[in-house]
Amino acid sequence: MTVLLCGDMDAAEYAEWGRHLRAYLPARETLVLATEDFDPAAVEVAFAANPPPGTLARLPRLRFIQSLWAGVDRLLRDPDLPRDIPVARLVNPAMTEAMVESAAAAVLFLHRQYPAYAAQAARGEWHQRVQPLARERRVGVLGLGELGGATARALAGLGFAVRGWSRRPKQVEGVACLHGAAGLGRMLDGTEILVNLLPLTAETAGILGRDTFARLARGGGVVNLARGGHLDEAALWEALDSGQVGHAVLDVFATEPLPPEHPFWRHPAVTVFPHVAAYSHPETAAAIACRNLTRFRAGERPEALLDLGRGY
Ligand code: NDP
Repeated sequence: MTVLLCGDMDAAEYAEWGRHLRAYLPARETLVLATEDFDPAAVEVAFAANPPPGTLARLPRLRFIQSLWAGVDRLLRDPDLPRDIPVARLVNPAMTEAMVESAAAAVLFLHRQYPAYAAQAARGEWHQRVQPLARERRVGVLGLGELGGATARALAGLGFAVRGWSRRPKQVEGVACLHGAAGLGRMLDGTEILVNLLPLTAETAGILGRDTFARLARGGGVVNLARGGHLDEAALWEALDSGQVGHAVLDVFATEPLPPEHPFWRHPAVTVFPHVAAYSHPETAAAIACRNLTRFRAGERPEALLDLGRGY
């Protein structure tokens, strides 16, 4: 039985993913790479890492798609994506650990006023700023799923006063949970550091925009670790200029790599990371993808199935 590995990857990445996937592949399966010659009619399952649009539509006997990435917005933008077969995304505890570290680092960086101290240091200025405790700092987390939920819990564990927001009602230990359109404003009002961990969907695109920034505490911090499409760049620029937002930590961008001429690189109140908050971890990801394949072959419900209508 043939499984196709297809994606937006170079030869070295194909080789690395191929090696890890073959190590965990169930005995009766054969893995073929999209870069090799293969019979499209033989492929029943695809391990998909954002393949070029149309790739999956060319597989007439495809029955299951396992994304190798956690974020599936690009995969779902393929207009020819088969809509009548199950699609699962990757939920990887190793990635969640990495995201929690990245989010905590960014929140602590802003909370401990490191951008201001870095600016002072560049001027040789010795000045001790008033420093609130974590429990006096209001942090908001947009999205309380695999990544946002673990992040909100960890930030609460560090002592921050955390509010979180999801689509449906949620309970996360130590976190004040709000949901839906009505909960958004209450979640944002007075938030001093806002962390975005939403999936990019029609409903969440541009959520980091003028209205959101206006509700934050003046001089608040914004941390975008989800997708560039969540951010209205012009609105952020305006909010930074007016002082409504004090500093932004951005890991993801509408155009990646961020072009060298993009002004975010040089804005003193923007810290840029090259999409590294939780980079996919091929070895653990391969084990999880192959486990889900086994579930599918056994007639069980694969884990982390997407709701294509909802977009995540
Ligand atoms: P999940 O699907 O587990 O969680 C999504 C969360 O967002 C859920 O709590 C969901 O609410 C909430 N949500 C979705 N739509 C809405 C809405 N319209 N209104 C309010 N809440 C909403 O996703 P993950 O936590 O696994 O991943 C989140 C995103 O992180 C990914 O989609 C990806 O874009 C990004 N990511 C970034 C990486 C990086 O390196 N920078 C690496 C990996 C992922 P509910 O619980 O009610 O369904």
